[in-house]
Amino acid sequence: MKNIINIVDNQIKKASSKIRVNENLIKILNKPINEIKMNFPVLINDKVEIFSGYRVQHNNFMGPFKGGLRYHNHVSMDEVNALAQWMTYKCAIQDIPFGGAKGGLSIDVNKYNDKELQKITRQFTKSLYPYIGSNKDIPAPDVNTNSQIMDWMTDEYNIISGNHNSTCNMKSVFTGKSINFGGSYVRQEATGRGVALTIKEWADKKDYNLRGKNYIIQGFGNVGYHTCEVLSTFGMNLIAVGDHSCYLYAPEGLNIFNLKNHSNINKSIKNYEFGNEITKEDFFKLKCDIIIPSALELQINKKIAENIDCTLIVEAANGPIDDEAEVILENKNITIIPDILANSGGVLVSYYEWLQNKSDEYWSEKEIRDKFDDKIADTFKKIYSLSIRNNCSLRDASYIYSLTQIEKNYMCRI
Ligand code: NAD
Repeated sequence: MKNIINIVDNQIKKASSKIRVNENLIKILNKPINEIKMNFPVLINDKVEIFSGYRVQHNNFMGPFKGGLRYHNHVSMDEVNALAQWMTYKCAIQDIPFGGAKGGLSIDVNKYNDKELQKITRQFTKSLYPYIGSNKDIPAPDVNTNSQIMDWMTDEYNIISGNHNSTCNMKSVFTGKSINFGGSYVRQEATGRGVALTIKEWADKKDYNLRGKNYIIQGFGNVGYHTCEVLSTFGMNLIAVGDHSCYLYAPEGLNIFNLKNHSNINKSIKNYEFGNEITKEDFFKLKCDIIIPSALELQINKKIAENIDCTLIVEAANGPIDDEAEVILENKNITIIPDILANSGGVLVSYYEWLQNKSDEYWSEKEIRDKFDDKIADTFKKIYSLSIRNNCSLRDASYIYSLTQIEKNYMCRI
């Protein structure tokens, strides 16, 4: 399998060769500021288990480090490092005053019940405690983590700091919390909503009618489901879906709400009553209009790319396409909306949540949604124009914009 860090490096190299950007800055951005590994014990069923947690703080020229925490058995320093880098560029693309970070816990979540997960999460928070803070580094949910995990972390953070009453600053250490714990309206759906609205912006620019168009999605979790929810309001048709358990194909279309109910109950899409099971290889071969990888990185390699037959790929997941695959897809004239643009809606509402916590305010759902929708549209438009002006891909244009913004902050430091 490809090294994910090389993929990020190549992306930056390619984009930065198209503009004049300070070489020292590129050198600095090439390495994260801090790479932290924490090994900690947890007593499970009277036996000590040792868990490894990671936090990579990539860069904070733009503001405090910001980025999700992932629970997955593949989590490694390299993976977290790449994801942290993407966070730096993602925040810059949305003009958010945050830097980039990411973290994770190497764990098979299916092996533990809720009580045990809470215990592990609280221990992980103790290990993270010295490194995070509302003006220092602000974690959020990612794969296999959710508002419940963020609530446990917030509570544990408050206990450690001796501050039980959740003052504004304490609440603002984590985003993606539940509403009762100081979370924000629209946060849960934000990433998927942003993905879908970005597709709409692209379609508007291209005079491309989304109604009746077929799409397939890999990953039916938080981001995948919420993307489908908004796409269904545009009249689009989900013809195939995959998750960690299987891939399902239903040419007549899948009812996303029933599928969601099934997935909530069974913790996967396996054994859903509609659709035929197909392999991952056959899933990516399906002729369709749009493909949305929404699970994990490095899912589309050279071999898979050769068989892809669609108009647009939208990276709802981080880093789902490797660099060799990207060249093949570009040669086939398939447009790619890159991760740092497509899924940046999550951190946008995390920023709104942080602002609300800091000022001890709650903004209404409508207020946040309106603000969010406008910002997502504006961001797509500015990156699209940049790609036309520079005659480059949306990925290159996204990095060009981000690097230029980061450079402005870097230049005032030297
Ligand atoms: P999630 O845990 O809610 O869902 C992950 C989905 O991926 C699940 O359906 C799972 O079954 C599926 N999956 C896991 N392993 C798989 C495999 N090997 N093959 C196929 N499917 C697999 O996570 P999420 O929050 O929806 O995150 C999905 C992606 O979006 C990740 O790349 C994440 O980094 C990215 N992302 C998430 C957010 C956010 O706000 N949650 C923000 C930006 C980017």
